[in-house]
Amino acid sequence: MKICVVGTGYVGLVAGTCLAELGNEVKCVDIDQNKISNLNSGILPIYEPGLEELVLRNVKEKRLAFSTDVNSVMSWSEVIFIAVGTPEGKEGKADLSAVFSVAKSIGKNLNNYKVIVDKSTVPVGTADKVAELIRQNSSGKIVEFDVVSNPEFLREGEAVNDFLFPNRVVIGANSEKAKHVMREIYRGIERIDRPMMFTDIKSAEMIKYASNAMLATRISFMNEVAMLCEKLGADVKDVAKGMGLDERIGPRFLQAGAGYGGSCFPKDVQAFIHTAKENNSEFKILEAVEEVNDLQKKSIVPKLKKLLPELKGKKIALWGLAFKPKTDDMREAPAITIIEQLFAEGVKIHAFDPVAGENARKLFPKLELFPEPLEALKGCSGLIIVTEWNEFRNLDKKQIKELLLEPNIVDAR
Ligand code: NAD
Repeated sequence: MKICVVGTGYVGLVAGTCLAELGNEVKCVDIDQNKISNLNSGILPIYEPGLEELVLRNVKEKRLAFSTDVNSVMSWSEVIFIAVGTPEGKEGKADLSAVFSVAKSIGKNLNNYKVIVDKSTVPVGTADKVAELIRQNSSGKIVEFDVVSNPEFLREGEAVNDFLFPNRVVIGANSEKAKHVMREIYRGIERIDRPMMFTDIKSAEMIKYASNAMLATRISFMNEVAMLCEKLGADVKDVAKGMGLDERIGPRFLQAGAGYGGSCFPKDVQAFIHTAKENNSEFKILEAVEEVNDLQKKSIVPKLKKLLPELKGKKIALWGLAFKPKTDDMREAPAITIIEQLFAEGVKIHAFDPVAGENARKLFPKLELFPEPLEALKGCSGLIIVTEWNEFRNLDKKQIKELLLEPNIVDAR
């Protein structure tokens, strides 16, 4: 199929590349000219394991191209994936301005039957608004089209694998013609153990928010369990293991830590709470999930202060800055809260992250970055392990102790 993917961020670039890998002809467009010209020179805007190789190969084999010429790519395409950002807007409401602006462009370029796929995470009812905007902007042309909801569940750091080998593909569609097109697109990945689930559009939109909200709830739940464990002398790692052995619970997403971050959970939980409010409901559990997460992110530096009451003028090492391992994404990372608190205490920060260092320094120019984790420890009175990169698992504890001025360690993971 001829596919246009609008937005070449974490989702759009991965989706576009993997759709090309599945044999479709894909053109990715973005309003960011710099991103597109870099992509055309083989430079990727993000770090994602395995992605670069896949991009280069599919470009070489002419199934994948990048462009800023939104109009001509849209006219050329049979299917348009909307994969632009939907950040948190006012009062937690999802900011849909980029999605709506794309919908208007689609309306202007509607020249034959097209399936429009909402891949961005958007509140229930958005597909209807997208359809309405396409109609309003198509200058009275009577051209058939369908809007489909196909939320994305990939995890940064595992994105390529998650896209090509998903647990499920959820498709909300109201027309048989659109369902057929979606089946064709994903033909390469559907298997009995990886079902393609068809439902109505609103349910598909809801599935995405309900899934992220459930995962965020598990994290906050375990963080509160961990807090009690600390007070009572139980070990949260064993508690999680024991809980996870129950098949009804399962072992995933039971790790206590520094709180959830990233570009999805915080904003999606907020948007879900907002959707409830707009519909005269209260999502009390999710309000608590958010509150607990906020407290959790702020609880790490006080732990260090228990070991080292006077932080002013001290150097502290941070290992890991990205919101999770194997990504360079700093959006809403717990490290941000930790860095802000440390700077407020008058601390100098020595930081190491395998790939997110430069993105973190854009937010905090005063951050001192080190190329190796052990080097970052020199002259420091404490270490906080913020992100659980594999790189930290097998380092020599004796050496860590020797390199630190004072061996104060807070393992936030
Ligand atoms: P991103 O910020 O990395 O990328 C968005 C891209 O869209 C940017 O390159 C931006 O320049 C481009 N863009 C914005 N407006 C545009 C327009 N009018 N025309 C063309 N391009 C435009 O965002 P992301 O992380 O890829 O997320 C995209 C969507 O997918 C969001 O709704 C997000 O919630 C959802 N999602 C993200 C993840 C994730 O792990 N990042 C996972 C699942 C779902």
